[in-house]
Amino acid sequence: MSTAQASDAVVIGGGLVGAAIAYGLVRKGLEVVLLDEGDVAYRASRGNFALVWVQGKGDGQPAYTRWTRASASEWPGLRDMLAEATGIDTHLQQPGGMHLLFSDTEVAQRLALLERMKLAAGNHGYEYRLVEGQELRDMLPGVGPKVIAATYTPYDGHVNSLKLLHALHRGFVAAGGRYVPNTTVTGASAAPGDFRIDTAEARYATLRVVLAAGLGNRELAPHFGLQAPVVPNKGQVLVTERTKHLLPMPTVCVRQTDEGTVMLGDSKEDKGFDLSQTPDVMATIARRSIDSFPWIGQLNIVRAWSALRVMSADGFPIYEQSRRFPGAFVANCHSGVTLAAAHALLLAPMIVAGDLDPMLAPFTADRFDVPAAA
Ligand SMILES: Cc1cc2nc3c(=O)[nH]c(=O)nc-3n(C[C@H](O)[C@H](O)[C@H](O)COP(=O)(O)OP(=O)(O)OC[C@H]3O[C@@H](n4cnc5c(N)ncnc54)[C@H](O)[C@@H]3O)c2cc1C
Repeated sequence: MSTAQASDAVVIGGGLVGAAIAYGLVRKGLEVVLLDEGDVAYRASRGNFALVWVQGKGDGQPAYTRWTRASASEWPGLRDMLAEATGIDTHLQQPGGMHLLFSDTEVAQRLALLERMKLAAGNHGYEYRLVEGQELRDMLPGVGPKVIAATYTPYDGHVNSLKLLHALHRGFVAAGGRYVPNTTVTGASAAPGDFRIDTAEARYATLRVVLAAGLGNRELAPHFGLQAPVVPNKGQVLVTERTKHLLPMPTVCVRQTDEGTVMLGDSKEDKGFDLSQTPDVMATIARRSIDSFPWIGQLNIVRAWSALRVMSADGFPIYEQSRRFPGAFVANCHSGVTLAAAHALLLAPMIVAGDLDPMLAPFTADRFDVPAAA
């Protein structure tokens, strides 16, 4: 193998998480190499539902609520930066979001959840309200009679996540980053601040390494004294033909894209690495969508896919700097669209500084360690 190619940072994984961090690092003036196996794997970054979503996130972990809200607040800045640097419009809209409710039990459970979150948020506040009757019909034209109410929070929105991924990559390269596609990291050697990363074609020497390889982090992390106990969680999504703009805001399971198609989703299935699409799940998604908005029944389904989320056991992200090998960082989450702004504009500067903010302390992977039996 030829001599190692040197850089300030190597980011492994060019999905939404790696691309956002790499973009943030290069904006801070670092010389960055982004190594990416490419679109061969599980397509989380290309198969997601594209919500920038806050409502209901962080029950039992207020630090996650704060992180998610911080990202939603940073999103307009990221949109503007990417538009200026690349000319790509990520079509961010943040009109707030609705969670539809179909029974009194669902209403009671949802209100209890959001009240709990409001209490946990303390001085940070957590605005939500129940929307019913005519107000619901005004806010969501064509909502079905089976929907008895919805909860609204003002923080939510959605984007075009394919354009986001494209813009992050283009912005990274435009700012001087080096993208190496179709390359798989096969091995590494680590010493504090001195990492060697091996691919079949080359060896990279770097001061910092960021593991952002989605489900691939599980295998990579131990090379760097880290752990990333993430597992796949399948989501199936259906997309309708284009129609006139009817939905002024996204709901958790139905949203109208900037192009006019309507996305219907998305299942949550523990099926390992199985990516098959199944008629029963697709039928359930379609039925729930038509119950939500009966007019969807008039539209043709034009596309459907499945993709794998990157899940930790408690559903919260993993962010950590290796204690054994400072300079090595791991980043995993199942909301890479929502958190793209936090990754580019908040996390990347922490990585440059070599120190993760204490606000991320709850997200180290040692929270999953099970004490050995006595
Ligand atoms: C159905 C579905 C719906 C979703 N909806 C939303 C949503 O509405 N809002 C939201 O915020 N999030 C959503 N998500 C989650 C979001 O898509 C993910 O959090 C995000 O895509 C994860 O990005 P990632 O970069 O960690 O992983 P990935 O997208 O899996 O990217 C990892 C990258 O690392 C590369 N890689 C892996 N191993 C190696 C290696 N050894 N060497 C080099 N490269 C490697 C892979 O090729 C890949 O390019 C959804 C996900 C799914 C599946």
